[in-house]
Amino acid sequence: MTPTLAMIVFMIGAVIWFAIRIPARRRARRATVRSSARGLRESILMAVSLTGLGIIPFVYIATNFESARFRFLSFADRPFVPAIAWLGLFVFAASLWLFYRTHKALGRNWSVSLDIREKHKLISDGVYAVVRHPMYSAFWLWAGAQALLLPNWIAGFSGIVGFGILFFGRVGKEERLMCDTFGDEYREYMRRTSRVLPGVY
Ligand code: SAH
Repeated sequence: MTPTLAMIVFMIGAVIWFAIRIPARRRARRATVRSSARGLRESILMAVSLTGLGIIPFVYIATNFESARFRFLSFADRPFVPAIAWLGLFVFAASLWLFYRTHKALGRNWSVSLDIREKHKLISDGVYAVVRHPMYSAFWLWAGAQALLLPNWIAGFSGIVGFGILFFGRVGKEERLMCDTFGDEYREYMRRTSRVLPGVY
């Protein structure tokens, strides 16, 4: 593995991510939104996450190929360790697999923010039987893979910071929304599942 290959892996991962998300979004949009907990706070959290997981690494990659004249964030470069980048590839693959499973399981109940759709069903099987926020687990894995693949302290770790802000800013509110919508069914589901890491958190 070389730094250039690691950047290509990240870009291919991003393309696969879009290939999973775009059809999933099209399907979900067919179901009307009944109520929503969106607002300015949600918009800011999503912008912060997008910046950390997407914009910063992409600008870094676009300006850090061999022939680039201006290298974005070059002052924060760290040594490139092939074994770490290989690990990043496997973590990224795991992230995309989980991401695919969660979209399959959620179907029309999915939303990019906090919405309740017409005929919203509580999903608690498949990967949702193991943790109650597996899509967020997948994003944590993406953020981890980014840190392992990109040999730069800022472009690598911006995903963990950006997604971490979205995750901790949203997850409690999302669980309150689910409790308000599904009542004891969700409270019981909470008792038997962890949030993102089975048995740990
Ligand atoms: N937090 C979940 C889902 C993220 S998508 C995960 O990480 O996998 C966010 C949307 O999913 C919200 O609109 C919320 O209403 C919905 N949602 C969250 N958990 C759900 C579940 N178990 N079943 C159905 N919808 C769910």
